[in-house]
Amino acid sequence: MNEPTAEGRRRYPHTHGYFPDPEQIEAAPDRELPCTCTNGCPSRCAGECGCKACEQAFAEFCDVAGFYGPGEFDEAAALSAYREVHVHGGVPGGTDA
Ligand SMILES: [Zn+2]
Ligand SMILES: [Zn+2]
Repeated sequence: MNEPTAEGRRRYPHTHGYFPDPEQIEAAPDRELPCTCTNGCPSRCAGECGCKACEQAFAEFCDVAGFYGPGEFDEAAALSAYREVHVHGGVPGGTDA
């Protein structure tokens, strides 16, 4: 599937349901990465449903948060940190509400 779903468009409203292309300064849609989430997906979907946009968002989160450091990639920890960001609306581990 190469078209974002309605849910995908809701999740990435600025890029019409596509993952924002990091090469572009303005939020430009990356046509290779449509969000194909359904409304059954968690609010911080990590691409479990097969969505390329959210899988990429999760991968970038892991990269920025340093989960791809030396040693084994701890997917469970990365995933819980990823979802945590959404809950607190801030940095992983941040406690200020
Ligand atoms: Zn998605
Ligand atoms: Zn999804």
